[in-house]
Parts: sequence; C-alpha cells; structure tokens
Amino acid sequence: MTTETPIQESKWPEDPTLVRHVLSLSGGKDSAALAVHLRDRVRNMEYIFHDTGKELPDTYEYLERLEGKLGAKIVRTTFGTTFDDLLRQYGGMLPSNHRRWCTRMMKLKPFEEYIGDDFCINYVGIRADEERVGYISHKPNIRAVFPFREDGIDYEGVQRILENSGLGMPPYTEWGRTRSGCFFCFYQQKIEWVRLKQRYPTYYEEAKAYEKPNRVNGNVFYWCGDESLAQLERPERMAQIEENWRQAQERLAKRQPNRSLAETLGGLKVAPRRREGCLLCQL
Ligand code: SF4
Repeated sequence: MTTETPIQESKWPEDPTLVRHVLSLSGGKDSAALAVHLRDRVRNMEYIFHDTGKELPDTYEYLERLEGKLGAKIVRTTFGTTFDDLLRQYGGMLPSNHRRWCTRMMKLKPFEEYIGDDFCINYVGIRADEERVGYISHKPNIRAVFPFREDGIDYEGVQRILENSGLGMPPYTEWGRTRSGCFFCFYQQKIEWVRLKQRYPTYYEEAKAYEKPNRVNGNVFYWCGDESLAQLERPERMAQIEENWRQAQERLAKRQPNRSLAETLGGLKVAPRRREGCLLCQL
C-alpha cells in the first residue's frame, strides 16, 4: 500500500513485526466496512474507538455487532477528561467547524497517545469516490494508508461489503441520520437536528442546554450556525426544515434518474453530495 503522509523513511523499521497495524473506528459505515474488508488481509490489526462520552446508543450497538463480525475486541480509549471539563477549559466556547478543539482533544490526542512512539500503519476509510481531507496524524512514526482508494471501493462498494457481511448499515441511518460521532455534532444538517429531536428528545435537550450565555462575557454559542436549538425546535420551523429537505431530495432524485424516489428519500442508497466532518469522528 502506498503512503500519503510525510515519513522519515530512513527510520522506518525493515522488520515488519516492529510495526503496529491500527484501524480507528468511528461507529460509522466506512470504517466498519474497512475493518470487514481487511479482516482476513491484516491478521494482527488493532481496532480502536475513541469514546467522547457523547455518542449515540446506536454507535455502541453497532460497534458490538462489528466485534462479533470481526471476532476481535475493539479497544475503547478515552481522553482522560470529560467534554464538560474541556468546555470549561475552552472558556465555554462550543466547538465548531472553525474551533474544532473537540476533534483534536477527544479523538486525535487519544489516538496519538495510544500509539506512543511505536511505528504504526494507520488504516483510513476514505473511499475512492471522495476527496475528503481531515484530521489525521502527521507524526513521523504513523503512516496513513487508504485501502478503499487503492481498491477502487466507492459508496456502493461500502454498502455491498456491509450487506454481504451481514453487518448492514449503522442503526442511525434508519432514522435519517448520516453521521456517527457526538449527538450534538455541529456538522449535522438541520434535518438531522429535527431527526435527533424526534428520535432522542433527551439528547436534543442536553445539546440545547449547552447553548447558554458565557459567564464571563455573556456570549452565546450555538451548535447550528446562528440558529439556536430553541428556535429550531418550534413546530413551524421543524415543518419548514422537513419540507426544504423533501424538496432537495426530489431535486436529487431527478438528477439521478436510475434511482427510485423512494430510494432517494430513504437516504440509504445515495452518497451524500458533500462530506463534511472529520475523519476521526465520522468515517
Ligand atoms: S463528532 Fe463532531 S462534535 Fe464530536 S468530536 Fe467529532 S467533530 Fe467534534
């Protein structure tokens, strides 16, 4: 497999037994499919999951099912402190696309600590049909490889792997969510906030409770751009978001005539057009 990260080649060990093989699982479909895809090719793979403590129950359930398919344990790592402690450290400033301290502190740092100074091949589930970039470690002892790109496996290929293995898609896709990661992730689309409120109202309330004025300067940070979750949950606003989403799906179905409207509206057969999110949380 080829590498895409800078590496001090002279230091990379010739003895392959000195190199660890690690696959970080997010609870999402791509990393799960990659684990299944490589199950019989990389025998000494270490599977890890960085638990933020703010994941959906669906994620834990999916990881347990995946362990059964892999016949291997997935090591759960934590980052030694809670999200709430970190939030205090960051002055009550909720993470966002431009202030992504959450990924750094809750995903990347625990990963690098788990690897330490060992030489490691890090298997990343970016598909052949996406141009995604994101947080991956650039430590010289960690080498990232992208097997799906090398094997030409795209969105439908991932679905096939999951279906053929009997694992299937992650449970949250059944109620219209497209991403793994924290239930309050700021990368969610508005429709996903609506779905969260319908499916897990207590998590919605918990997310909403974070949107409060900062004790020091009175600033309020919202998860969802400039719209608060209190505004978004008004029935007329939720209905409007539902309608906007339905119309967008119809437009998408017209552009993809080989798919039925039901498939498109179901959201399970169509690759999201724009993949926002971080590699460590949402692959
Ligand atoms: S899932 Fe979202 S909120 Fe959670 S760590 Fe990742 S980017 Fe941050």
